[in-house]
Amino acid sequence: MSPGRSLLLGVDVSTTATKALLVDDRGAVVGVASASYELSTPRPLWAEQDPELWWKATRDSIAEVIASTGVDHRAVEAIGLTGQMHGLVLLDESGSVLRPAILWNDQRAAAQCDEIRERFGLEELVRITGNDAFPGFTAPKLLWVRDHEPEIYRRVRQVLLPKDYIRFRLTGEHATDRAGAGGTLLLDLATRDWSRELLEALKIPAEWLPPTHEGTAITGRLSSGAAELTGLTLGTPVVGGAGDQAAQAVGVGAVVPGVVALTLGTSGVVFAACERPLSEPAGRLHAFPHALPDTWHVMGVMLSAGGSLRWHRDTLAPGVEYDSLFGEAKRVEPGSEGLFFLPYLSGERTPHADPFARGAFVGLTLKHDRPHLTRAVLEGVAFGLRDNLALMRKVGLDSVGQVRISGGGARSPVWRRILANVLGIDLVSVETSEGAALGAALLAGVGGGFWPSVEAACAAAVRLGKTTRTDPNSAAAYDPIYRRFREHYPAMQPLFRAG
Ligand code: ADP
Repeated sequence: MSPGRSLLLGVDVSTTATKALLVDDRGAVVGVASASYELSTPRPLWAEQDPELWWKATRDSIAEVIASTGVDHRAVEAIGLTGQMHGLVLLDESGSVLRPAILWNDQRAAAQCDEIRERFGLEELVRITGNDAFPGFTAPKLLWVRDHEPEIYRRVRQVLLPKDYIRFRLTGEHATDRAGAGGTLLLDLATRDWSRELLEALKIPAEWLPPTHEGTAITGRLSSGAAELTGLTLGTPVVGGAGDQAAQAVGVGAVVPGVVALTLGTSGVVFAACERPLSEPAGRLHAFPHALPDTWHVMGVMLSAGGSLRWHRDTLAPGVEYDSLFGEAKRVEPGSEGLFFLPYLSGERTPHADPFARGAFVGLTLKHDRPHLTRAVLEGVAFGLRDNLALMRKVGLDSVGQVRISGGGARSPVWRRILANVLGIDLVSVETSEGAALGAALLAGVGGGFWPSVEAACAAAVRLGKTTRTDPNSAAAYDPIYRRFREHYPAMQPLFRAG
């Protein structure tokens, strides 16, 4: 690291750890550090965290990344924030935290979701916010506090998202970014600001919510107290940043309409940038503002993508390396000789918003052996991802120019080839391990004036890898097989529901 080079800091307040990542002004990652914490489950299906844990982990991870890279902390010229979406942080008049934060994966607010849906009707709710009401979203959780902890509710003066609590500790400002605000269920998707209509109907005071900003806008500057605690320079700008999904998309360069980011991790995420707000009338896709102005995104989530393969390995091939499973699967013909796998091991979110959906092998015969089962799992996940993309096209995503793929499963050339053929689209691998924190640092770089636009920041920083090309013959062979796959879920749905 040459002396005097400017640095940008991305801070990712995730569910398991807070990460601090440094990028230089040419887009190269200089270092990353993280400090982890626990999640508490005071009752089944609840998930809470003390915001103080995030603040301590923010300070620790910043200190560690500075120490481990040996950079001068005064070189950090802008800070970007990202983190777990939807979490509810409540502050009182004095800025003190009123109760532990209720997180995105907390399921307690189902009745409040029903209340919101009944009040507006699903179609109207999706028209305003782009989304259906999920218990994980912020608004239903706020109504849960109203219903179950009225003493606390009376004292609420400010509602923040997790990363915005860190912003508050860094700058003293109440502010949020529009991509993250989309996950509250209180944002008007088209205007990218709080929905008066929703706030009035739910009787949530507008002054409880912080001003919204674009991801690259400066929302405040490092306070003297935070400068002293972190060693960073007083007055360093802190930009809006983004919720983790949008920041992750910035980290892989999915910022231009037509570029789709496909993450093949434990879950599978299909994320498409678009130039107008798109939403799915039944709310089966998530629709939020993107981290850059005049851009939105739609997103589908498959709950068990890489997770299906891991289950398969752990259950049917314990101790076998993933690479040898892929080697076996490669020798099986597309379609696994009539064997199908339904990847709904944890229920499903997209395209079937169905907690009762279940996994299944369909079409087993005596000729099928483990390689067939493995290939069927890889194909079943690929078909599920194609379902996601098909739903996005149905609601108006007209151009899919490039698909950028990342996540653990994307390391396998065999799985990538199956996916490229099932989707009928070439896949470009993206080398990223800390995508969301990188995205936040890039947004900071644009806000701090180091790059003229998010596209320019991505062009400098995002490292593209191999392209996996579609083979037209295999792609054509998969079309009728995919249509067969599509028939299985509706046929089995009543059985799943019956248990
Ligand atoms: P997470 O989403 O939990 O961060 P990752 O992005 O690391 O997880 O992806 C984990 C998934 O990657 C595993 O469930 C498995 O399906 C897949 N995987 C793990 N190792 C390999 C490998 N060597 N080759 C291909 N896929 C792998």
